[in-house]
Amino acid sequence: MKKIAIVGSGISGLYAAYLLHNSYDLTIYEKNNYLGGHTRTLNINYNENVNINVDTGFIVFNKGNYPNFYKMLCDLKIDIEKSDMSFAITSTALEDPEIKFKDFNSYFANKARLLNPKYYNLLYNINRFNNLSKKTLNSLNIDNKKSLADFLNDNNFSKFFIESYIVPMGSSIWSCNPSQILEFPYLSYIRFMKNHGLLSLINQPQWYVIKGGSKTYVEALKKLLKAKIRLNDEVLNVEKLENKLKITSKEGVSSYDYVIYSNHPNQVLKIGNNLDNEQRKAMDSIKYSKNAVILHSDCSVMPKNKKYWASWIYKKTNKSLPILTYWMNSLQNIDKNYPVFVSLNPGDKINKSKIYDIHELDHPIFNSEALVAQERIPDLQGRNLTFFCGAYHKYGFHEDGVLSSIEAVSKLKEIDN
Ligand SMILES: Cc1cc2nc3c(=O)[nH]c(=O)nc-3n(C[C@H](O)[C@H](O)[C@H](O)COP(=O)(O)OP(=O)(O)OC[C@H]3O[C@@H](n4cnc5c(N)ncnc54)[C@H](O)[C@@H]3O)c2cc1C
Repeated sequence: MKKIAIVGSGISGLYAAYLLHNSYDLTIYEKNNYLGGHTRTLNINYNENVNINVDTGFIVFNKGNYPNFYKMLCDLKIDIEKSDMSFAITSTALEDPEIKFKDFNSYFANKARLLNPKYYNLLYNINRFNNLSKKTLNSLNIDNKKSLADFLNDNNFSKFFIESYIVPMGSSIWSCNPSQILEFPYLSYIRFMKNHGLLSLINQPQWYVIKGGSKTYVEALKKLLKAKIRLNDEVLNVEKLENKLKITSKEGVSSYDYVIYSNHPNQVLKIGNNLDNEQRKAMDSIKYSKNAVILHSDCSVMPKNKKYWASWIYKKTNKSLPILTYWMNSLQNIDKNYPVFVSLNPGDKINKSKIYDIHELDHPIFNSEALVAQERIPDLQGRNLTFFCGAYHKYGFHEDGVLSSIEAVSKLKEIDN
């Protein structure tokens, strides 16, 4: 059997292994002490008698937009359960600072809003944005250089609309800061929104979580895969010696026929001394932003009024960058008597005594340079005995990681035949 090294054990690396493990001799290198990368479930001890499994990375998926990932869960016989994807913002920039976007009753929970034209106007503009975007997608003349900011500007969308809907929604989906979301290429943004049912106020997809936490599927894969798994073994260097690859990791040196990089492009660049200039350039064009991910039980990140509590909370205060919080009780159906939250980039706003875990997870930045690189990657696969996969190949989500592995593996099999 030919030998393949897979660098990184996120969904992309694990799915590549899932597709290849019967036909190749696989080694999965993972620098962390656990498998799964952004699939990271922690067991917290809430009190003496209560232990809870909480996801601090990948949480939700739906059946329509994640068909290959969902099929794998079915094959692995993983139990799933319905999740709630309500969304709320709390912003000191708004005169009435808390809004929940779930249904008519939550939106107008403050009855005074029924008499305030601003709130009808916001709904009107959400609808206008959605309709204009659907029209763009149907038109033959699409300007794919436009950023989201350009589009909003060209169509006179108000500051109120941008601050209370577009920016919170976009930065929550991509866990990035407001300026990054406005730089997002408009076409890519609306394609994603359309695919996920987000260009419509009704007919949203049903979202799901994995029962017992996302790590359940990683554990099932670990049992199934015929692969050598090397945890705590960071790859430090990859070199090409004639028709073999020499891989140096923390634990030693080994030789392989192929490498699949399923880590992030900035990490590939550090170790990929087997790559040519074009491969390096593509990797260099996709940048990442760092997110501090804090697991805690401090309710102060939530709206003051409990009526506006939702699964995703975008909180903006005057002085600081927004804080995005996932209300894990609502997302993962955890008993609400034991509040648990995951907040991204909260600075020092969380009461230290209520923190369970602090971790850093990086997120790709999808600017126009990154989109050009994404288009180049298929042609770069296979050169220098190298294949690439990762959620960064498309929109940055789990199904994107799976699709990237399907593409990389199919190219590998084509070349290896
Ligand atoms: C807070 C948060 C919440 C999210 N929620 C969702 C969600 O609900 N649904 C969804 O679809 N997506 C979600 N995502 C997006 C998530 O990033 C992707 O879905 C996906 O998990 C990324 O997978 P990946 O395989 O591309 O990368 P990763 O999971 O990041 O895997 C890369 C792996 O490579 C390893 N590695 C790096 N360098 C080396 C080296 N030199 N040697 C060995 N190992 C190395 C890393 O340790 C890591 O394990 C979320 C992301 C974040 C940050």
